[in-house]
Amino acid sequence: MDLVAKRLDADVCSIYLTDTDLAHLTLAATIGLARESIGKVRLAFGEGLVGYAAELGDPIAIERAQAHPRFKYFPGSGEDLYASLLAAPMVMRDNPIGVLVVQTKQARRFDPRDIELLQTCAQLIAPVVLNARLLDFVSRPEGEKRKVVADLTSAGLSKPGPQAARAEKNVQLRGIPTSAGVAIGPVFRLEDPLDFGDVDYEPSGDASAEWRDLQGAIAEARRELERVRSETGARFGPEFSAVFNIHIQILEDKGLIDRLEEAVRVSGSALEALRRVLDDYRRVFEGIENEFFRERGSDIQDVGRRVMAKLLGVRHQNVSITEGAIVVTSTVLPHHFAMLEVERMGAMVAERGGPTSHGAIFARSLEVPAVTGVAGLLAQARPGELAIVDGVSGQVHLSPDEALVDEYQRAQLRHGVAVEHLDALRGRPAESRDGHRIRLTANAGLLNDLALAERHGAEGIGLFRTELLALAQRGFPDEEEQQSLYERVAEAMYPRPVTIRTLDVGGDKELPNLQQGTEENPQLGWRSIRLALSHRDPFLAQLRAILRASARGNVRILLPMVSCLGELEQANALIEEAKSALRAQEVPFDEDVPVGLMIEVPAAALTADVLAARCAFFSIGTNDLTQYTLAVDRGNERVAHLYDPLHPAVLKLIDSTVKAAGRCRIPVSVCGEMAGDALAVPLLVGLGISELSATPSSLPIVKEIVRALDVGTVSADARAALEADSADAVHAIALGRLRRSGLFDHPDIGPWLRASYP
Ligand code: PEP
Ligand code: MG
Repeated sequence: MDLVAKRLDADVCSIYLTDTDLAHLTLAATIGLARESIGKVRLAFGEGLVGYAAELGDPIAIERAQAHPRFKYFPGSGEDLYASLLAAPMVMRDNPIGVLVVQTKQARRFDPRDIELLQTCAQLIAPVVLNARLLDFVSRPEGEKRKVVADLTSAGLSKPGPQAARAEKNVQLRGIPTSAGVAIGPVFRLEDPLDFGDVDYEPSGDASAEWRDLQGAIAEARRELERVRSETGARFGPEFSAVFNIHIQILEDKGLIDRLEEAVRVSGSALEALRRVLDDYRRVFEGIENEFFRERGSDIQDVGRRVMAKLLGVRHQNVSITEGAIVVTSTVLPHHFAMLEVERMGAMVAERGGPTSHGAIFARSLEVPAVTGVAGLLAQARPGELAIVDGVSGQVHLSPDEALVDEYQRAQLRHGVAVEHLDALRGRPAESRDGHRIRLTANAGLLNDLALAERHGAEGIGLFRTELLALAQRGFPDEEEQQSLYERVAEAMYPRPVTIRTLDVGGDKELPNLQQGTEENPQLGWRSIRLALSHRDPFLAQLRAILRASARGNVRILLPMVSCLGELEQANALIEEAKSALRAQEVPFDEDVPVGLMIEVPAAALTADVLAARCAFFSIGTNDLTQYTLAVDRGNERVAHLYDPLHPAVLKLIDSTVKAAGRCRIPVSVCGEMAGDALAVPLLVGLGISELSATPSSLPIVKEIVRALDVGTVSADARAALEADSADAVHAIALGRLRRSGLFDHPDIGPWLRASYP
């Protein structure tokens, strides 16, 4: 609040929180107003200026507050000293959860920047407030609690579904594909190490001694978490360790501690108190339909179990697993990656959770295949039985028959062997037989990806997805944090280029502290550059962070999902503004930092001439370009059979983009999954793409394909593909080329290609 007051040069900053009735607001914190009014000043929505802002759902700026017909004076608050007022509602999922207010002694006309700044602050504070309230309201009576959950999340309560019965063999389960890759191995059940029900615990009979023990356990758990945080940071990078800050914060939460103390007083047992409080939390969080809020619950359970282990004197232990184990667990948690040997892990499968949990993000970044949300998994999976996990389709097979194992094994082994062999040759250039050089770069999003990019011989980072850090932290990271990540990437890859894409959230990637709301058609909605342009301050902060990291001269800025010239112009204006701010502070950056566009909307491809004249490069995002061209939601299984980047319509858009870029002499890359697809590579090279940016592990195979091609020939193939009457016909052209270029007899990738395209 201090910071908000300072940045807005205000004398007062206060937070009013919405009561559980969702009809009143109470002053919850203030700098500047009388402290005694905290908890006492209460107003209905619509009452006074603050209530008016809450009712409107929009900010209000009033120069002479006391003269305003809505002004309401609360005796003793000291408000009579202040002339002007600016109030911004804090909103989560369309629900007003409070109002952030600043006031000034001198009469002042707030300008649009002040309003936007306060609005941004309100959005940033909202999830913190909501988190604190979720932690807090478990201590309320049951009826009230339910209401708050339902109201705050607009989600209602869900009931667990029935569990399927276990058949002996060939049990096929399905979950959410969370981290790509296939694994075959024995099931290792990672039971929650301590279940409250299984524990024998004899309370001492003295409640105050029990409370002391519990406090000791909390302190020890905290120390342990600090240790895990620094170990994980050293092993996997700082963004991994940030998750444990959240766990430490939970242990510092006053509401939780007070509740535990009360429960010890009532039950006389430290363990029983912990069990009751955690049960309460679990029930409440499990009832929440919304994934984001539900996953906050798993963090609390995780921390609670750690405290219990300390109470029982159990040390934090690393668990040994057999090579290739399929780890089956209730929820994928961040600390699993610290306690298990990641190198030996075949895959992770979890009954609960979704692809946006912390654990899921860790799995992706560490290239551990994972499927989450597998209903019935824990009831079905038996320790030691063979399982296949397909992180691409989301299928999990328990005790599969031999034919299925064979099929998966052939593809998997061949791919693995090929990549391993080719990694040894990573220094070779990706040059076609007739001497055309293609730049092969990696898609990345976390520091850990850099090691993989290095291992697989990437010539730079063609797409750095900045939203992964934001999603991992469940919010917009601050400027310094972003700067340090981008700098590390730029430094690690130097002098190779690093293309940093500005925040691309919305659609299926929701960021809790950006007020997105629910939309009928999120993929066609307020996402990506559209969202960034309307969140000026965080966007500017990100641009400054990227610019700071550009000082060495190897950084490029990439703007996602641009659909018209206006968006590019607005973004360019903001980049200029960010540059001026840095110049004023004498911060070094690359004055000529190249700014490029993602071509992922058909409109952009069709007007590529206009855009190419005003930017430094194009990167074609074929994942979205395919979805928008074919009107096929990229995440919808029911229409997945229609999703095909080799559809002639998509190729035509790529072709016109490449031609427009050629006329303006700017380079074009492809950074969608298509860039790593063996079948697509000859066609993309034939269309004149000069850079392919793909998942690091696919680069060695892409390189071998490029080395076997002749650009003259694949250009003719590409022309034929553009004229083809169906995607199937294009597949046939590409497959024919792979066969004729001798790749099916290649010692490393031949076996894999033969198994993949029999
Ligand atoms: C794309 O759309 O092709 C792309 C690379 O962006 P993302 O997959 O992150 O949407
Ligand atoms: Mg995209």
